[in-house]
Amino acid sequence: MIGSEDPTDSRSVRAAAAPTPPAPPNVGTRAPYRFRHGPHEVTIFSDGQLMLPTTLLAPQAPAADRRAALEIAGLVSENYEPAANIPLIRSGEDLILFDTGGVDFQPGLGWLSRHLTTSGIDAASITKVVLTHGHPDHIWGTVLADGALRFPNATYYAGAAEWDFWNHDDVWTKLPDAQRPFAIGARRQYAAVRDRVIMMRSGDEVISGIRAIATPGHTPGHLSFEVSGGDGLIIVGDVVTTPSVYFPNPKWTFGFDADDGQAIDSRVRLLDRAARERTILLGYHWPYPGVGYAERDGAGYHYLQGHDRPDTVE
Ligand SMILES: [Zn+2]
Repeated sequence: MIGSEDPTDSRSVRAAAAPTPPAPPNVGTRAPYRFRHGPHEVTIFSDGQLMLPTTLLAPQAPAADRRAALEIAGLVSENYEPAANIPLIRSGEDLILFDTGGVDFQPGLGWLSRHLTTSGIDAASITKVVLTHGHPDHIWGTVLADGALRFPNATYYAGAAEWDFWNHDDVWTKLPDAQRPFAIGARRQYAAVRDRVIMMRSGDEVISGIRAIATPGHTPGHLSFEVSGGDGLIIVGDVVTTPSVYFPNPKWTFGFDADDGQAIDSRVRLLDRAARERTILLGYHWPYPGVGYAERDGAGYHYLQGHDRPDTVE
């Protein structure tokens, strides 16, 4: 919950915000991953990877169930290293980037710009930047060190509720102390785009066929995006962070979610729809490139990595 005094939570968050181990050497080597989706060309760029304490995963699940699930998922070390996958959609004249990555947040992040450059994509050619939410690994790549915008010609799209949350004076009382730097950072990044930001609410379109879906809980104004064409595509953001844990157990909590109940509702709703409609999903923190499907599996879901659309519906 926002403003939680739970000491376990703030300990985890502090550990997450100040990791000491160096970034593994391979984080910048993931080549961009490209595929066509209806009228759009989708490319996933790696911003690198985070290092987080495994204690963030399902902290409230029954201990034996949690241990078994993490073992199956291979998450048995003190830390785990979720990817950071940033979609870029080329659609007509538009180049639309979803999140800007985590420059100066953790040493394993901040690779987006390098990957854009090596792909021949000039930052000045990005026409639209869509921000799913205000966390550092998603928006700290918006502003350069000198205060200029990394994507100087883009129009920006931010969730109205998310913008209000981070910019309201209440934010200081709603966040655990360890997350205060998140608010300082979010305000800096948001302030830099304030003259060119469009506020988004659920159902609003970025361009025709790319529409916001309100998925609150991870943060108060978190947005996912549905992209028309083909069999449908959803840019999930952080509604489902670690697929090996939360697909089979969508009602387990995640230590970085602001409101557990709301986060679970959003997660179940999104996975249920994705399984029913057999919609391709893009997960920001899923194993690179984070492309896959949800299949119903008992009380939860199975994560089917890759482009093979499941051919049966429950
Ligand atoms: Zn994230």
